[in-house]
Order: sequence, then C-alpha cells, then structure tokens
Amino acid sequence: MFNSRDKLEPDKFMLLDTLNEREINLKVLLLGETSVGKTCIIRRYVYQFFQDAYSTIGVDFALKVLNWDADTLIRLQLWDIAGQERFGNMTRVYYKEAVGAFVVFDVTRASTFELVTKWKNDLDSKVQLPDGSPVPCVLLANKCDQAKEGLVNSTTQMDDFCKEKGFIGWFETSAKENINIDEAARFLVTKILEKDKALKLGEQEGDPDRIVVNGNSAHGKEDKKSACC
Ligand code: GDP
Ligand code: MG
Repeated sequence: MFNSRDKLEPDKFMLLDTLNEREINLKVLLLGETSVGKTCIIRRYVYQFFQDAYSTIGVDFALKVLNWDADTLIRLQLWDIAGQERFGNMTRVYYKEAVGAFVVFDVTRASTFELVTKWKNDLDSKVQLPDGSPVPCVLLANKCDQAKEGLVNSTTQMDDFCKEKGFIGWFETSAKENINIDEAARFLVTKILEKDKALKLGEQEGDPDRIVVNGNSAHGKEDKKSACC
C-alpha cells in the first residue's frame, strides 16, 4: 500500500514526527503582597536574570517554553499582577482559565505571610477546575537568602499550614540567588498534569470538547495521550 512517508526525505520524517508533539498551554498566576518578589521570580525563571524590579501597574505575563518530555511541549504563561495587588483583590478576568498558581510571601516580613490565606481564598473563590476542585497552588517563601522572620523557621509548622490551607506544597526560594525556582515550577507543572490526567481518566463519554488543561494538540482534540509526570 502507498505510504506518503515513503516519498519523504529523512529530515521530513523528522518534521512529521515532531507533529506528534503535544502542545499544552498552562496559565499560572503569581499572587501575593507588593514587594514579595513576584516580578523578580518570573524574571529569574523566564529570562535568567535578577534585577531590582521597577514597579509597573497592570497585568503582565511572561512565557516559558518547556520541553517537558519527548512528545510534550509546555507553554507556561506566568501572569504577574504587576502592582495591582496594592488595590486589593484581583478581578475574575485575571483568574479566568488559570490552572495553577503560586502564592508568594517574603520571609523577612511576617506580615506578608499573614496575608497568604487572603490570596489563597481569593484564588479559590474566583477559579476552579472543571470538576469544581481548587487549582493546584504552591506557596513560595521568597528571599530565603535573607534572615527569616516568623513561621517559616519551622518546617513542620509550614507543612501543617499548607495542609490546612490547601496548598499542595511549599518551597523556600530566592530570585536573587536562584534557589528553588525551577524546582517549584516543575513541581507545580507536574501536579497540574497529574490533575489533568486524573480528570480525564474520570471523564465520561459524550463531552469531547471538554479540555481541562488548555491543550492544543497538533492532532486536535482526539489526542488522549496522557502526560508523563
Ligand atoms: P513584587 O512587587 O512582588 O513583584 O516584588 P518585586 O519582584 O518587585 O521585588 C521587590 C523587591 O524585593 C525588589 O527590591 C527586589 O530586588 C527584592 N527581591 C525580590 N526577590 C528577592 C530575593 O529572592 N532576595 C532578595 N534579597 N531580594 C529580593
Ligand atoms: Mg511586581
């Protein structure tokens, strides 16, 4: 039988093979009080540099492309509230279609930790996954290159706090010294994909258009290949 691939050069084979790649768009939010380091974390993670961030007002996002595995490409959209946190809670538009979040506090200022719950509640009240469950959210204890203040000194208490408040985990990070930022992002993405996989497994026949993670497969919506975590 004729196979169109028979006519192709080897490099074109490769081109076809790359079409098997699944592309997934993930919208992830960074929440937390002013000056905790949200913008610096994004800059460190996406552009690999640290610089005293200047304050801007608005909503900004940066894109990090991850070659997750042999057939999964992830476009991670990191949404930065860029100054609007000063005016209180964010609008629903900002949260729309988010599939994960980081809540950031500053380990040198216990007051920023006290407001972590406010951000988590705001997130949970404004966005949920299609099954109604909260989006995976990781707590970041930023500026760990500095002397710490308060609860963050106790790992057990932080673990208990996360469990109680519904954070899937926490990391001590430093945008300045590049500590744990890649690890925290990898952890969150892994959990988002696990959640997506679990929801798809539980999916009933009859709603082929339902996509939990904003996935744009080269094969369209029929592609049910599960993610490798
Ligand atoms: P945002 O308001 O949450 O976006 O905070 P920024 O990213 O603008 O950072 C606020 C301030 O904290 C800036 O002066 C940064 O230089 C500083 N900063 C951010 N991350 C770190 C960090 O990991 N360590 C230290 N020492 N300073 C940081
Ligand atoms: Mg900022």
